[in-house]
Order: sequence, then structure tokens, then C-alpha cells
Amino acid sequence: MAGELPFIPLSEPEIGGNEWEYVSQCLDSGWVSSAGVFVDRFENAFARAVGVDYAVATVNGTAALHVALRLAGVALDDEVVVSSLSFVAPANAIRYLGAWPVFIDAEPSHWQMDPCKLQDFLENCCEATRLGLRNRLTGRRIAAILPVHILGHPVDMDAVLSLAARWDLPVVEDATESLAATWNARAVGTLGHIGCFSFNGNKLITTGGGGMIVTSDQTTAERAKYLTTQAKDDPVEFIHNEVGYNYRMPNVLAAMGVAQLERLPEFAERKRRIFARYREALAALPGIKCPEESSRAQSVWWLSTIRIDAEEFGMDSRSVMRALQGQQIQTRPLWHPLHSLPPYRGCYAHPHPVNITPTLHAEALSLPCSTGLKESDQERVIAALHSFWNPREQAGAAIA
Ligand SMILES: *Cc1c(COP(=O)(O)O)cnc(C)c1O
Repeated sequence: MAGELPFIPLSEPEIGGNEWEYVSQCLDSGWVSSAGVFVDRFENAFARAVGVDYAVATVNGTAALHVALRLAGVALDDEVVVSSLSFVAPANAIRYLGAWPVFIDAEPSHWQMDPCKLQDFLENCCEATRLGLRNRLTGRRIAAILPVHILGHPVDMDAVLSLAARWDLPVVEDATESLAATWNARAVGTLGHIGCFSFNGNKLITTGGGGMIVTSDQTTAERAKYLTTQAKDDPVEFIHNEVGYNYRMPNVLAAMGVAQLERLPEFAERKRRIFARYREALAALPGIKCPEESSRAQSVWWLSTIRIDAEEFGMDSRSVMRALQGQQIQTRPLWHPLHSLPPYRGCYAHPHPVNITPTLHAEALSLPCSTGLKESDQERVIAALHSFWNPREQAGAAIA
């Protein structure tokens, strides 16, 4: 029976616009590699879409973070303050520079980096020295703040920016999951000094793999382009005055990006609608909770993620995942808390112990939310969740 049900994936890309046309134009032109008109077009259109002066396309979002952190001045044995509840990429990018992450716990309403805990760490665990802010415990310099806007909802950027200004720290935003989300009506990724985006297959728009660095600082943008193209100072004589990276986005992927970007407002609207329907339809289920939207934010709800209180709901998140899998419905937990992964166990995490991130990790489950999700398929997901709860109610009624 279950085998006959069509599979509902967690989130799949939608390639239904001008992708074929632009990619074939690109192939016909012969300019398929890192030079070509589509890279420029994609960068310009992306900069306009988020409201920033410069955008530099990269091979992926992790590469964008790596270069952005280097541009922010992060160096060997520095520390970068980052969210503990996140995909691993930003922590890895910090390590690529030989620097160390300091993990800040999440807050329970919007699930983002907790601004109070961030403030507490900077105020009470660090000291201002002639050479900058230092972590008292490790003696290392704090080089930057890296807020990760997870799941489509912004971090409290008022708090992050005011704390950053107070200690003169650069802010690199990981906006990879939150393209089209706004904070105080401004696009996330454009509020700090440098912002990073990803166009991996599971993101709101995709180029298969790709990323973007955005900034309104011309020098930073020029440096970003220079470092992502092997730091080429003389392309004829092959003079390179610095160690650069081969991180430029290929033209053929940028062609796909131009087409995907045309549909961004529509995709964002559909993500919001899908999550609104889940929120409404699951509101009556005891033990199921959705993250709240901050009054200063418009979330894009890139993933529709709920929290399942095992005791109240009668089933924990992983049992729900397995039961839904049995009905051909794909769901996924959030990332393992970064501070307890083997490469990061020795890093400082704040506070001691970090308590919200592990709870969210245990309880959260992302539900199917492809931009092309059919209403009838979403109904199937909702009905399944109701059925997990209802049998007990019905059994109770039968006994009564
Ligand atoms: C997807 C993602 C990235 C970047 O991923 P790439 O696959 O390298 O493009 C970075 N940070 C977070 C939080 C992400 O979800």
C-alpha cells in the first residue's frame, strides 16, 4: 500500500523558467567557464535584487564564506563568533583560515543566534586590549562576528550590529538559507559588512552549486573578485602577488542563476505560503510548535521546520520522521550541534552548557516544502501528523 503512494521530497529545486534558454545560449557562445556575460548579468541582477552595490559570484557558498572571512581580516589563530545551531559550512570556512569558531547558543523563539548570549560572551568573557578584543579564556583575538540566518529567518541584526560597533568587529553574514528574508525591511546579507549566499540544489534558487559575496564597499568587492580568480595581477605574464583561490562561478552556472533569479519573488512567496499553511493546520496539535517570526523581520521560511515535544505529542521527532518515511514522506532533523562535532569539540561554546541548541536539535523536524509542493501533497503530510496524534484520542473516546 505505502509503496503505491507517490514520494514527497523534503525540498526539490524547480527548473521551469528560462534556464534551458540561457544555458543553451551560453553553450552556443562557447563561453562556458569563468569568463562570460552571464556571470556579469547574474552578479548585477543579484546585487539589484538584494539592494547592494556589488556582488561577486563564487563556486559555492562555503567558498564565499572563506573569502569573505579573509576579507574581514580573519587570520591564523583568531576567533570568529558564530551560531551553534547551523549547517557546518561557516565553521569549516573559519577553520580554512586557521581561525577558531566560538559558538553562541540559539534562542528559543526564532531559533537564531541568541543576542543576549552573544552580548554576555563579548562583555563578560572577553577583554578589550590595545590589539583588539580578546577571549580571556583562550587568549585569542576576536576577529569577526558571523551570524547565520538559519531556515529563512534573520538573526537579530540590531543587536549584532550594535555589539559589533561597540567593539569594532566586522560582521560577515551567512545569508545562505535566507535569501529574500528582510530585517527592518532590508535584505539579510546586506546589513553587515559582507554577506554570503549559496545556490546549492536545496537553496531557494539554485545554480546546481554556486555562491555569492555581496558588499557595498568597492574595495572589498574588488578584493573579492581578485581573490576568487587566483589573485591574478598580470594575466599575460602570470604575475600573482598573493595566494588566491580558484573560486569563480562558471558562466554556464551563472546562466542558470539568471533564470532562477527571475523567479525569486514567486519562490519566496510560495515558501511563505507553505509554512503559513503548516502553522495553521498544526496549531491544534498538542506538542507541536512552529518558530515565531520576529516583529522586525520578514522570514522567507526556506524550510518549514516544526518542533515536536515528545511527551506532549506522544512521539519524538525521530519516530515521526520514520513513520512519515513509511508513508513516502521525506523529513529531516536539524544539524547536529556544531560544538559537539568531533572537529569542534575543543572549541569554546557559550554559555556553559549550551542548552537551547541541543533541545532544538532533538525536537526539530523539517517538513516537505518544495516551492512546487502541491496542496494535496501538503494535505497528506498534515493528515499524517494528525493521525499520529488522533488514534490515542479515539482510543480514549472508545474506552470512555
Ligand atoms: C548551504 C549553506 C552554506 C553554503 O553551502 P554550499 O553548499 O557551499 O553552497 C553555508 N552555510 C549554511 C548555513 C548553509 O545552509
